[in-house]
Amino acid sequence: MAPEVLNSESLPRHFSGECVVTILRHGTLGLCESPCCAMMATLPSVTTRICFPPTRISATIAANQSAISRSTLNLLLLPCHISGGDLVLSIQNLTKTYPGGVRALRGINLEIPPGMFGLLGPNGAGKSTLMKILATLLEPDSGSAHLDSLDLIADKNATRRLLGYLPQEFGVYPKMSATDLLNHLAIMKGITNRGERKQLVEGLLQQTNLWDFRKKALGGYSGGMKQRFGIAQALLANPKLIIVDEPTAGLDPAERNRFLNLLSSIGRSVVVILSTHIVDDVRELCSRMAVISNGELLVEGVPAQTLEALRGRIWTKIAATDSEREALEKSMQVVSTHLVGGQHELRIYSESSPGEGFSPVDAELEDVYFLTLSRHQRN
Ligand code: ADP
Repeated sequence: MAPEVLNSESLPRHFSGECVVTILRHGTLGLCESPCCAMMATLPSVTTRICFPPTRISATIAANQSAISRSTLNLLLLPCHISGGDLVLSIQNLTKTYPGGVRALRGINLEIPPGMFGLLGPNGAGKSTLMKILATLLEPDSGSAHLDSLDLIADKNATRRLLGYLPQEFGVYPKMSATDLLNHLAIMKGITNRGERKQLVEGLLQQTNLWDFRKKALGGYSGGMKQRFGIAQALLANPKLIIVDEPTAGLDPAERNRFLNLLSSIGRSVVVILSTHIVDDVRELCSRMAVISNGELLVEGVPAQTLEALRGRIWTKIAATDSEREALEKSMQVVSTHLVGGQHELRIYSESSPGEGFSPVDAELEDVYFLTLSRHQRN
């Protein structure tokens, strides 16, 4: 059978960088006219690493196999076509107004490199709207989002193959076991080789610490177990963009800890966006972060650097009475108030000592968050 020859024009525009190719059938994939042609190999249902861009790819099919069509080859290559090192999610001027007139996003610009990115904002800030747009579930009014050169908004099918998404409300079939549902979802994701699928599903059940409960009906899972199952399904098909929307809300501290440890174990070479209103989630996990409120981007950067501007400017005092607390709230820039042993401890922003009884303290990410929100509300 004559090999089908694919030239670079027949490949998707965003096809570049290093990639992992999983060939699901026996066959020979040869790379021509590129430095990689030495890697030509017979690939019996294996995963191999090949460099791109080649100027030409030819798929030569073993005599007893049917030909791999161009679309099949593209399908096999697409889920992993982008090199981890270059991967950047670039969001430009994204806007969304809902039919009722709510302006949920007012021109969001973000550059998100590989690693864990925390998207922090209060309820109603627009986080889920942004997550849904990136996950191809919602159409923006204007703006763009690209992962490397892949257009997430225009090229939804290719985006879905790269995407692992854990929505805020993650429904499961309550009577199915974790193994059965993961297996089913893996088939839907196009992982048709039985042996490969079994290995993948079992690996994910181990990684998410659900191995001992793999045969239990999902309806009987705790909140934390459901969220970990959600991560297992999001990791199917080796995603390059993982979106996790408010995952720790409602989890008890032990479950939350287990879940955050699991998230932190996900590779650093993929973009992971964690949307949350819980500052500690971001502090514990994320190498970069942004704060949004009312559809606007307020702060963006490395968490430790965002603290710099507050160095030496956060002070605390315990208010002895409610009237003292009220007076302080009126006269000072109060960042937050916490109850400590039944008493109100106030954290104050001030460029110099606010007066007697105040102690300087290290700024925390929560100070950045609350101060940013209150300054935004005042403007
Ligand atoms: P967050 O995830 O930060 O809580 P959302 O993106 O869910 O914020 O919501 C942003 C704003 O858009 C809110 O004011 C919310 O009420 C509004 N909103 C969200 N979804 C819809 C919808 N389907 N129709 C109308 N308004 C919506």
